[in-house]
Amino acid sequence: MTRTAILFSAPSGSGKTTIIKRLLQYFDCFEFSISATSRKPREGERDGVDYYFLSPDEFESRVRDGQFLEWEEVYAGTRYGTLKSEIDRICDRDRVVIFDVDVNGGINIKRYFGDDALAIFVMPPSIEVLEQRLRSRGTESEESIQKRLGRSAKELEEAPRFDTTIVNDDLDRAVEQTKRTIEAFLKNRQ
Ligand code: ADP
Ligand code: 5GP
Repeated sequence: MTRTAILFSAPSGSGKTTIIKRLLQYFDCFEFSISATSRKPREGERDGVDYYFLSPDEFESRVRDGQFLEWEEVYAGTRYGTLKSEIDRICDRDRVVIFDVDVNGGINIKRYFGDDALAIFVMPPSIEVLEQRLRSRGTESEESIQKRLGRSAKELEEAPRFDTTIVNDDLDRAVEQTKRTIEAFLKNRQ
């Protein structure tokens, strides 16, 4: 069994999900770590594909049972977390685990995997662009947009704790830069 992880953290709306989707098509050995969340699915999201959607009670019972490697109440009343079983499922198949987690989760997962993980911070070009992207995505209520923006300044300060930062201005350029960084990381581990 090998243990290799690549994790992406960023303020919500920076574009990490978009970048990850492109990378999953490019790197055959990647497998996305499906997180658990207590939020409701957005239109088009599927249980067991985008997230494991749990009720707040079910989430709590799994926390008590010690089933999470890490979890965070990312927004008041909404929890997200990485199940240990998910990491075992992917590592047992010798695949590279890909994480999309909030900034605190990223720091915790990097601590757990150490040199076996590449921690990537996806930086929006500016807070204004971040807000535009969140609005144009069209998935969030005004309250949810404000909650997300409210966290972003603090999250941006944590970028230096990651192994590398990718500025997501032009998407193609950001994806290319990410691919090169990942290829160098994987080559060093051979
Ligand atoms: P996150 O997963 O970080 O919350 P998303 O990947 O959902 O962010 O991206 C937020 C919105 O911004 C989406 O509507 C996405 O299509 C758009 N987006 C992502 N990257 C770019 C980019 N480089 N330029 C313009 N729009 C982008
Ligand atoms: P969204 O509701 O937009 O899908 O995700 C909100 C935030 O939760 C994002 O920053 C996302 O990266 C984060 N997140 C998703 N899964 C996890 C997880 O398992 N652990 C942590 N700590 N954060 C997560």
